[in-house]
Amino acid sequence: MKVVMGLELHVHLLSKSKLFCSCPTNYENKEPNTLVCPVCCGFPGSKPKITKKVLDSGIMVAKALNCNISPVIFFSRKSYPYPDMPKNFQISQYEIPLAFNGYLEITNKKVRIKRVHLEEDPAKLVHVGGDITSAKYVLVDYNRAGIPLIEIVTEPDFESTKEVREFLSKLTSILEHLGVYDASKEAALRVDTNISLEGGERVEIKNITGFANIEKALNYEIVRQQNLLRMGMQVERETRHFDADTKITYSLRKKEFEEDYGYIMDSDLPWIEISDEWIKEIEKQMPELPDTRIKRFVKKYEIRERDAKVIVYVDKTLADFFESCMKIYKKPKMLAKWIVADLLKCLNYQGVTIRESKVKPKTFVELLKLIDEKKITERLAKEIIKEFVATGTSPKEIIKAKKLVRIEEKELLPIIKNVIKENKKAVEDFKAGKEKSLEFLIGQVLRKTKVRADPKIVRELIKRLI
Ligand code: ADP
Ligand code: ZN
Ligand code: MG
Repeated sequence: MKVVMGLELHVHLLSKSKLFCSCPTNYENKEPNTLVCPVCCGFPGSKPKITKKVLDSGIMVAKALNCNISPVIFFSRKSYPYPDMPKNFQISQYEIPLAFNGYLEITNKKVRIKRVHLEEDPAKLVHVGGDITSAKYVLVDYNRAGIPLIEIVTEPDFESTKEVREFLSKLTSILEHLGVYDASKEAALRVDTNISLEGGERVEIKNITGFANIEKALNYEIVRQQNLLRMGMQVERETRHFDADTKITYSLRKKEFEEDYGYIMDSDLPWIEISDEWIKEIEKQMPELPDTRIKRFVKKYEIRERDAKVIVYVDKTLADFFESCMKIYKKPKMLAKWIVADLLKCLNYQGVTIRESKVKPKTFVELLKLIDEKKITERLAKEIIKEFVATGTSPKEIIKAKKLVRIEEKELLPIIKNVIKENKKAVEDFKAGKEKSLEFLIGQVLRKTKVRADPKIVRELIKRLI
């Protein structure tokens, strides 16, 4: 059964002040309800005033997503009574979005961007004693109310979760390169996904955070819908919630339609003309974007395109890390290989990004140089990476502390001789043509020397000795 998916992404746009007032946006670890004013609390008589810098960022994002930009925009009130909106409406854009008809290219297709618009974030609801479906009561923190959000809506162009993942990592890398998005901030990216199977209605899963959860939610939903259709039942159009603990989606409500919100134009805010000059000015300020950076990496450093893509799409800080290393190291291919194959694996395993980890360009290059100078084996280097990703200790210190220097031939020979003596059968088998036995013998030597021996040299020596 063919799967069709579309995304609605809400991204916090980095900005010192909220979208319609001058309250600060750095709400992490702040006392609840301290970064508020009459405007973001919706007191009668208060008047919103747009923060221009956010419009600049919005135009930049729209350009990076190859969108047309509306020459004139205005804001509308999306009415709904809910504790996260003190005014009982959210200031958003509906009739005319900031931008429309764009695309973002992934490996096998152009994903069409339907619209891009600006809106204010509602307050943060803290569900106490359960999640949205089971909480005993709810606390409201208005510090988040009014923080600028950009909403990006795609057409239903995704046919697999793999495409969704590629799109998300490319999109977030673009936003990071533009300097408008900080992935480390709580709830900086929230995604609603729409998903339908051929012949079925579409279901919306609201408010998922984190790439892994998005994939899990989609995979769960695909199976749930497949089962319904297989049993001859219907998929109902509805809104569901993904519970990150049980990895299951629950029905929240039958899907409302956008018209149901009764949008009306917000007459407190002026119409805004977005002139060609303004757009040109923004274009001049646009930094290098991921695709250009990848091309530059391939051309300037002659690394494989595949590696360049991984490095740039994982996140901007990893691409910056690569370039910082290149300033003090002269072998880009080696660097790229060790970042993509080993450093990344380790970061993923330990669940940290390069920025959160303790790895610095200086220590990473120190490690590569030790491999170059044959002071350590590659296997040993892999062990050391695990350690310094976690602790930040320099490779040289780790080696000294654990006495991990590479074993030299002189020290190796007696060990190998011993292994040969103890494994006569394997030696005979190898002589009789059984290649596997050689692997076995190498394995025995490596076990005795931990990771300190170089498998290539061990292989040579065994062959020479038998
Ligand atoms: P609404 O006005 O109800 O929000 P939109 O047309 O704006 O509907 O689409 C909302 C989201 O649903 C978009 O991300 C779009 O890609 C997605 N979508 C539309 N049709 C389908 C479908 N048949 N299957 C899956 N997703 C869909
Ligand atoms: Zn305010
Ligand atoms: Mg919508």
